[in-house]
Amino acid sequence: MNEIKSRASGEDLIISVSGVRGIVGNALDPSLLTRFAAAFGTLVKGQTVVVGRDTRTSGPMAHHAVFAGLVATGCRVIDVGVCPTPTVLLMSKALNSDGSLVITASHNPIDWNGIEFASESGRLLSEAERTHLMRVYESGDFKLAAWDKQGSVEVIGTAIDQHIAGVLSCDWVMQDQTRAQGLKVVIDCGNGAGSVISPRLLRELGCEVVELNCTPNGYFPRPAEPTPDALNQLCEVVKSEGADLGFAHDADADRLVLVSEEGTPLSSEYTFTLAAEFLLNKRKGDMVATVSTSRMLDDVADRHGVNLHRMPVGVGFVVEKMRETGAVIGGEGTGGVIYPELQYTTDGVASIAAIIQLLAESNPSTISEVIGSIPSYAICKEKLEVPSQQIADVVLQLAIETYTDETLDLTDGIKRIWEDRWVNIRKSGTEPVIRVFSEAQTVEVAQDLCGSTLDTLKSLIQRVSN
Ligand code: MG
Repeated sequence: MNEIKSRASGEDLIISVSGVRGIVGNALDPSLLTRFAAAFGTLVKGQTVVVGRDTRTSGPMAHHAVFAGLVATGCRVIDVGVCPTPTVLLMSKALNSDGSLVITASHNPIDWNGIEFASESGRLLSEAERTHLMRVYESGDFKLAAWDKQGSVEVIGTAIDQHIAGVLSCDWVMQDQTRAQGLKVVIDCGNGAGSVISPRLLRELGCEVVELNCTPNGYFPRPAEPTPDALNQLCEVVKSEGADLGFAHDADADRLVLVSEEGTPLSSEYTFTLAAEFLLNKRKGDMVATVSTSRMLDDVADRHGVNLHRMPVGVGFVVEKMRETGAVIGGEGTGGVIYPELQYTTDGVASIAAIIQLLAESNPSTISEVIGSIPSYAICKEKLEVPSQQIADVVLQLAIETYTDETLDLTDGIKRIWEDRWVNIRKSGTEPVIRVFSEAQTVEVAQDLCGSTLDTLKSLIQRVSN
């Protein structure tokens, strides 16, 4: 998500291209949520809006605040309840709704929440729509409905069933094959929005399922972002259970990451790489990734003789290019993969089916053997906290000036590219951090590159702060 505007209340409210996120009990209060929902209700002219939420403990508060704004602007609200972001967007598409709101802060920490906005049938807002939304929000010029034109709320309890049915109907899922293999899988949903749907999907695919942190209560026992460091418990359980595979989602389950049968957390880059390799074996077509996605994707594209388009980081840019090129798959290195036959959004639930089907077709190879057959690179991902997003902007500008002797790709942030390695420096759109990703042929080189970049950035931050 690229930030378009940050409104200070101690920098704990971030407004980005896809929505708004903030710290609950601080900047993210009920009146702000209601005003955003009323602005959205005004934007969609009081039509039908699908609303769902992740499991965060602030979800009920946000849910009622959002409903107030939507009903007050005359919207017909369809409440699909607690479910993953891709489930809400798929329901929006199925119901042909005029818009949708997902109450989630995705992978942000437990004390955050927010709203992600989408236009008709789950489409991300266009720039014109975002500008319109912000104008109405800022001005408070809401089209409030009269007493006899108030909106309504309907509850639909079948969203999860419909999403599972949608995934299983993809022509690349063959339940006969996955059931015949009957993999043993540990699924760690971090007590987030995937807690119900993903174990159920795995059972539909014939897997023996060990549920870990699948209580949808919003108390996250590990960080909501499923980085390798956050998955110690999953790795242990995969080993102690003798499972074939471990899966983990972020809090809204649009991302999926993998743990091998040896209990080793795999880089989140593997989710997209494996899904791409799998799908391109079935159908040829373009792929779309971001500038910070692994070089493994270039190798996949070369192997299959297809085009790989690289875009700025953010699902919106990837989706736009996918629609334009008719790409067969797209995604990000964070573990978010887009399957266009289902919908144009990152879907961690569909990724489960893709990986299970891939393994069924690779039988008897283990996930480690499948990974071993792909030329790999070492990736280092670090983030550096910055005092504010304004300081991050200044630091990035100074970094561009610092790296004058390099070939710089400025598609998104700064990407320094050499023959055998690259490093990408980007400001997060959703948190007050600068992300530094590097990739090289060895772990040492990747870590050195990340480390020296972090040192440079730290000294620049210090210079700016003084
Ligand atoms: Mg997410």
